[in-house]
Amino acid sequence: MDFRNFPAGNSPIEETHAVVIGGSIAGLLAGRILTDYFDKITIIERDLLPQEPQHRLGVPQSYHVHSLLTRGHRILEQLFPGLTVSLMEQGALEIDWIADLAWLMSVSDRWTPRFHSGITTCLCSRNLLEFTIRRHLTKFNQVDFLETASVTELLINSNQAAIAGVKVKIANQAPIELAAQLVVDASGRNSFAPKWLAALGYEMPCETRIHSFLGYASRLYQRSEQEAPDWQLLYVMPSPPNNPRGGMIFPVESDRWILTLAGMGKDYPPTEETGFLEFARSLRSEVVYQTITKAKPLSSIYGYRNTENRLRHYEKLKRMPENFLIFGDAVCSLTPIYGQGMTVAALNALTLDNCLKQQQQNMGKVNMRGLSRRFQKQIAQVNKTPWLVSTSYDLRWKTTIGGQPNTITQLIQKYLDQVMKTAVENNTVHKTLIEVMTMLKPPMALFAPSILLKVGQYQLQSLVGRKTTDDNLIHHIPPMGST
Ligand SMILES: Cc1cc2nc3c(=O)[nH]c(=O)nc-3n(C[C@H](O)[C@H](O)[C@H](O)COP(=O)(O)OP(=O)(O)OC[C@H]3O[C@@H](n4cnc5c(N)ncnc54)[C@H](O)[C@@H]3O)c2cc1C
Repeated sequence: MDFRNFPAGNSPIEETHAVVIGGSIAGLLAGRILTDYFDKITIIERDLLPQEPQHRLGVPQSYHVHSLLTRGHRILEQLFPGLTVSLMEQGALEIDWIADLAWLMSVSDRWTPRFHSGITTCLCSRNLLEFTIRRHLTKFNQVDFLETASVTELLINSNQAAIAGVKVKIANQAPIELAAQLVVDASGRNSFAPKWLAALGYEMPCETRIHSFLGYASRLYQRSEQEAPDWQLLYVMPSPPNNPRGGMIFPVESDRWILTLAGMGKDYPPTEETGFLEFARSLRSEVVYQTITKAKPLSSIYGYRNTENRLRHYEKLKRMPENFLIFGDAVCSLTPIYGQGMTVAALNALTLDNCLKQQQQNMGKVNMRGLSRRFQKQIAQVNKTPWLVSTSYDLRWKTTIGGQPNTITQLIQKYLDQVMKTAVENNTVHKTLIEVMTMLKPPMALFAPSILLKVGQYQLQSLVGRKTTDDNLIHHIPPMGST
């Protein structure tokens, strides 16, 4: 791309141009939506983008389990028809969230029963997912990637009311200025947008931060062919308030597993061999340890601790420059263990689409007036539920800082514990719970009369007297259909 073709600063340009800061999942999805509205889109990425699925510096989370929730998967397929086939051709697996998931819930010592639910998604490494989305996006002629380039400043127009472009530092070159009618910040949880706004005389957004001090440690394994289990993915949840340790084994392409060990409240899993395996052995169930010690390790062990819930309230700013949007983790980053981040980015993309559609109908092609404020207000609504899910679960831990569960939250937590217990016994409740967790249904679905009734019945049965549980059940995943 020849940058000299771009007029400098805030001069009017005929060809409509949008800039996206950050070429990770949120940036790629924003870029895809913009192809329907702009003649040219430049995605500016600090890293050199790999030519195959590979880790890169800007996405340190790629070493860890990345579950794509069903809602997110469906939106991705809608935005990039054929994406699932491309992923599967490269070894991704289609899984059913009930039939294929061996799940030990926080409140139970028994694994959830497995049956075909039709609630599916596609699982692979985070690298393969991002790489494949990027490849699909490059099919749009109007999209250009500017790599090894960092945005360092926002450029503002002469009346200080609208963003007119960005200043970019490209490796080993003098900084350049790119003019654009719209700038979207998708630079992730460490976004500089608050500082950039402050530098232009705007207020910084206030932030809500809730930190459960979750830490991850992850490693890749070759799946053991002799010991192939009948589940595809396995999840031992931490169990508040006393057991902060959990573990996940997820399938990724090339017949590999990724094991992510998780510890809440600073009970961080070690990243050296012996400590890592001891941590796996110390989980509530032996299954993770037994499975993994039969598989061949393929990688080093990688840790990650930057997991705070962080919400930046751009929607509350009294003044916001026009032509500037903030998107994805840059607005709302969540504790990763609930697997919501990429789906939230996908929902943000749909919101961007709606806002731009409305903008075009009301104001014509180039006029972006009012878009920034409308978009930030709408995604604040979209982000509300995932934020609530993530933070209310994190607040079950006494070690979490940044908030306290109020009486209503505590009552909801108690009810949700009962829902989970009932789900182990009742397929309808189990299916609804999975629909909520994969973001197909809102959490209110768990308060529908039919679910309330089943949860009530379960509680009554528990009071009357329940069958004695076998301590050994926790260490053995029953074959599918056996419960
Ligand atoms: C450990 C971990 C596990 C996770 N697991 C899951 C999961 O299971 N499921 C799920 O849905 N989500 C998960 N997430 C969240 C998910 O990774 C993010 O929500 C998702 O990547 C969207 O983030 P993003 O694109 O907004 O930001 P990021 O992925 O952080 O990307 C930001 C990009 O911007 C670039 N950048 C930054 N600053 C600049 C600049 N100034 N100029 C140019 N480029 C810049 C960076 O290099 C990077 O490429 C997890 C996150 C973590 C940390």
